[in-house]
Amino acid sequence: QCVNACPVGALQETSELDRVEAALDDPDKHVLVAIAPSIRTSFGELEGEEFGVDTMKKVYAGLRAAGFDRIYDINFGADMTIMEEATELKDRLLNGGVLPMFTSCCPGWVRLLHNYHPECLDHFSSAKSPQQMFGAASKSYYPAQAGIDPSTVYTVTVMPCLAKKMEAHIPSMEVDGQRDIDAVITTRELAKLFKARKVKWRKLEEEEPDQPMSEFTGDGTGFGFSGGVMQAALRTAKHMVDGGDLDIQAIEWQDSGIPGVREFTAELGDLKARIGVVNGAVHAFDLFESGQLNDFAFVEVMACEGGCINGGGQPHVNAHTRVTTDFVAKRRSVLKNEQKESGFSKSYENKTLQVYYNDYIGEPASHKAHKYLHYDFQTNYDNNEGWRSEAGKEFSEAH
Ligand code: SF4
Repeated sequence: QCVNACPVGALQETSELDRVEAALDDPDKHVLVAIAPSIRTSFGELEGEEFGVDTMKKVYAGLRAAGFDRIYDINFGADMTIMEEATELKDRLLNGGVLPMFTSCCPGWVRLLHNYHPECLDHFSSAKSPQQMFGAASKSYYPAQAGIDPSTVYTVTVMPCLAKKMEAHIPSMEVDGQRDIDAVITTRELAKLFKARKVKWRKLEEEEPDQPMSEFTGDGTGFGFSGGVMQAALRTAKHMVDGGDLDIQAIEWQDSGIPGVREFTAELGDLKARIGVVNGAVHAFDLFESGQLNDFAFVEVMACEGGCINGGGQPHVNAHTRVTTDFVAKRRSVLKNEQKESGFSKSYENKTLQVYYNDYIGEPASHKAHKYLHYDFQTNYDNNEGWRSEAGKEFSEAH
């Protein structure tokens, strides 16, 4: 099912709502849902709330009222991504590996690199995104804990992003024949789902999510805004390298001189690493054209300006409001407050995640971690997995 994404129908969004509703109505399916960090910042706008209202616990309640069997939070998957990504960064820095390492959790950025710089795919962290890591755990760890058949589990995510649908449907995003993710709906589609399932927003009381796989840290929450992934990964990498803590509030970001790219120098043991954060896909091209790419050790790219709080699946904001209100800052403030309330907790402190590693996966970057939580960009590019657009294929053939 497709819906127009622009007034003249030049772009269309693929809706997966029909499949989600069919799964909810299927008594043989055990339907899990997990929300991305930035959904809580924006969903209220679709229900008449002001910008910057934290609706996390009401969204959990609404999902339960809509009929999902288990309500989870992708922030748990974000903490998983940090554990794997930080381990990989430490290894590349200490033992030699391709640098700069690129974050790979934003499928808009992943597609951009596939289309325009496929020679740089080995720069990507092989850590799957929080969505895909959560999905892999939902089809392996969760059924093992719950004592149910993994093939009955149907995993839905609520994302701020249209590209997350593409990522979820990449053919090899599965383990032992189980898809990591079965369906992805956007923030806007969630409002439609609530309407279709007769969920009355005003009558909802705040509720907690289910456990396990909903405990999360302030670092996990940071995945929703530009720079948040970088801070979290570096903090955990520093802890792994020298046992120290990176005070993310004290980071003094500098203008790198490259449009849209902030930087700072991180100290990890004896190493000094130049760190870059690219805010918006267009600035990835600026970074490539700057001639400075190889001076960096680690680069975060978020395709949407401001990060997922301003993603393509978020509530539309009209032109007048865009000029008069800094709605991105208001959405960001929700996540910043949540980080503060958590005491700026760190991914490696997530107790439920520690249990997951101890009882199921072993160590980060273990053989089992690679089976469930990593993705081989180069091999799958060679297999033409679907990251490239038709225009990208034409571009790479012409260059
Ligand atoms: Fe999706 Fe935009 Fe977030 Fe990237 S930054 S994951 S494209 S919403």
